[in-house]
Amino acid sequence: YLFLHNDKLKASESFKDSYLLNGTSLYEVVRVINGKAIFLSEHYSRLTKSAQKIGVKITHDFSQLVKCIEILVEKNDCKDGNIKLVFSFKDKERNFYAYFVRHSYPTAFQYENGVRTIIHQAERPTPTAKVYNHKLRSKTNNLIAEAEIFEVILLNKLGNVTEGSRSNLFFIRNNELYTSPDHEVLNGIVRGKVIQIAKELSIPIHFKSIPYEELPLYDAVFLTGTSPMILPVKRINSLSFTADHQLLSAIMDAYCKLVNENLAETV
Ligand code: PLP
Repeated sequence: YLFLHNDKLKASESFKDSYLLNGTSLYEVVRVINGKAIFLSEHYSRLTKSAQKIGVKITHDFSQLVKCIEILVEKNDCKDGNIKLVFSFKDKERNFYAYFVRHSYPTAFQYENGVRTIIHQAERPTPTAKVYNHKLRSKTNNLIAEAEIFEVILLNKLGNVTEGSRSNLFFIRNNELYTSPDHEVLNGIVRGKVIQIAKELSIPIHFKSIPYEELPLYDAVFLTGTSPMILPVKRINSLSFTADHQLLSAIMDAYCKLVNENLAETV
């Protein structure tokens, strides 16, 4: 793929920039549908806020980012996929990259029937770490899912089921939604949309820690993320949940509507 580096297109598949490989960086993965980056302003805002909190200023503005992505989509002749935005910094050096990343999305079968997940003791920083709820690139960040397992669910040191290695989690019980409090998880863009949907549809939503032992109390579980969007979970370890739940379907429909509205908007 062609990638953009500080507004210049480069036709290269290898990244030789040592800052990109070894420097500290913040990143965003943005979903592109029909040539348009979905919820780009939300991603830009998360990136900017994360950078601010660690004392780094992003010098590229939003309109530059929109233009970059338009060029990237056009030059790669690729209208659907995931784009990774990486902002890397070291000393006074600031670098910004955007490139397509290969990704396979869940199948129609998985959306209908749900996916299997397993629990793993979290290796992410503790909730008190300053950078915890930013999307900060680090080597230990993501655990790799095993065959047939779609996602690894993180269990923190307090014994709470928090989020997936690359997704957030929601639980349904008596037609009410539950999700971990903000300080325990990454502030996911799709998670934010589900919270917005819950408010719009007057679905009660509780922000509470979910101890592992409480899992059997829930009827349905779903995960959210830029790539899978909203995906039912049918298994966490050996515990089963239904993928066929009215509230879950209503939330999935409402999310599709939001995506379509975003697609129709002109930036
Ligand atoms: N939680 C973690 C740990 C993640 O890495 C991700 C995305 O990669 C998410 C949640 C989902 O975030 P978003 O909805 O912004 O894709």
